Amino acid sequence: MKQFVFIAVYLVAVTLPLILSWIVGGPPRSFWQEFASGLGILAFSMILIEFVLSGRFKSVSNGIGMDVTMRFHQFMARAALVFALLHPLLYQATPVGGQRPWDISRQLTITTDFSDLVTGIAAYLLLPSLVLLAIGRTQLDYKYETWRLIHGVGALMIALLLLHHTIYAGRYGGQAVMMWFWLAMTGVAVGSLLYVYLLVPILDKARPWRVKTITRLTPKQWEVTVVPDGHAGLSYKAGQFVWLNLGHSSFSIRENPFSISSAPAAGPQMSFMIKELGDFTRTLDQIKPGTRAYLDGPYGHLCVDGRTEPGVALIAGGVGLAPLLGILRQLRLTSDPRAVKVIYGNRTDKQIAYRAELDAEDVTYVLSEPPADWCGETGFIDGPLIDRVFSDEECRDWIFVLCGPAIMMDIVEDHLLDRGTPADHILSERFDYG
Ligand SMILES: Cc1cc2nc3c(=O)[nH]c(=O)nc-3n(C[C@H](O)[C@H](O)[C@H](O)COP(=O)(O)OP(=O)(O)OC[C@H]3O[C@@H](n4cnc5c(N)ncnc54)[C@H](O)[C@@H]3O)c2cc1C
Repeated sequence: MKQFVFIAVYLVAVTLPLILSWIVGGPPRSFWQEFASGLGILAFSMILIEFVLSGRFKSVSNGIGMDVTMRFHQFMARAALVFALLHPLLYQATPVGGQRPWDISRQLTITTDFSDLVTGIAAYLLLPSLVLLAIGRTQLDYKYETWRLIHGVGALMIALLLLHHTIYAGRYGGQAVMMWFWLAMTGVAVGSLLYVYLLVPILDKARPWRVKTITRLTPKQWEVTVVPDGHAGLSYKAGQFVWLNLGHSSFSIRENPFSISSAPAAGPQMSFMIKELGDFTRTLDQIKPGTRAYLDGPYGHLCVDGRTEPGVALIAGGVGLAPLLGILRQLRLTSDPRAVKVIYGNRTDKQIAYRAELDAEDVTYVLSEPPADWCGETGFIDGPLIDRVFSDEECRDWIFVLCGPAIMMDIVEDHLLDRGTPADHILSERFDYG
């Protein structure tokens, strides 16, 4: 249901400039000219709306999920790129030229004034570069933070260039109503950057946290616990995540998303289960207790609060255990009557974290590289394993919460749907939307 509302709101927002331009109108032109203008208008509004689909707006990402938000952002950026690339090409079939003396209000002709077109040309070159850099981000050997900075600054430049191009070269954008409309939409886009990079850090600065403990859980996984410093903490739901900034200014872009593995019922202290992966997570051994931290959140929709299913299935691969641990702990601390089963997959037994705590639960451990004396499940979390752990009734009636490698989640989701689990009984969070 939330997805339908989201799509409806998106469609209205993205087509509004097109509809308004049509209402504002002008003397009729050939189909191709109108079509070319329409594609340009659509591309610009899609680009501006991309700013609020950045994953940092709870009203968007907490409803449909962070990974869906980000994949939608990526898909729409590609669609906008195609529309933008086609936009000037379609004008080719029609006569163009400088302003005609008889067309003072520029209703019938397309400008070829270089000063009006140059911003459009610059955006035309920048946009594919930005999208290609995003698509090839993981192949290109540069830091995530560098990419994020380039992406943000590049997007801002494109928005401003397109605003100028739309108002000065556009047939519709030059009209007063549309000009104010585009200014307002660009204002929202630029405002969203100011919100994320200025307002949120200012608010975070007033609510600092401190690292209480940092503990190695397994050879490559850590537990970081933070406590609020002079405030009451964060109100969140079990299974949500925050952007965590450890040891930098609240204005730094060096912050990473991590699921909260503690339960809200445990009090204001919060913990995170973090796997060593890249330049930040591999330096966790250098973080000292007392280090200042900032938290932006909570985000995410991986929550079972208020759900009415009789049982909760928690299926984790590796560090995907983190949010599910938060849910499990909350269920236990609140004496929740729902039945719980956990499946926890890893490569080796040394990677199993929180073993003592999990042993008290109905847990199935799965190892793909088990030691010789391993008596538990082996291989990967797949359909046959799900069938061994859950009955038909449980598959049909329970809620399934999944977090782990993309391949595991795809296989389990498909299998559950085949076995009759309703789609709205499956909640999942991906750590990488690459
Ligand atoms: C919603 C969500 C929840 C997560 N929860 C956990 C968790 O509980 N425990 C855990 O170990 N990992 C979690 N991750 C993954 C974690 O964010 C990355 O492993 C971590 O950011 C890597 O940072 P790095 O600098 O060490 O590695 P890098 O080499 O810099 O990054 C490796 C990859 O991590 C991702 N990444 C890095 N920085 C960011 C960022 N600022 N924003 C978004 N993605 C980024 C990118 O895909 C990047 O390619 C979560 C990710 C998401 C999206």
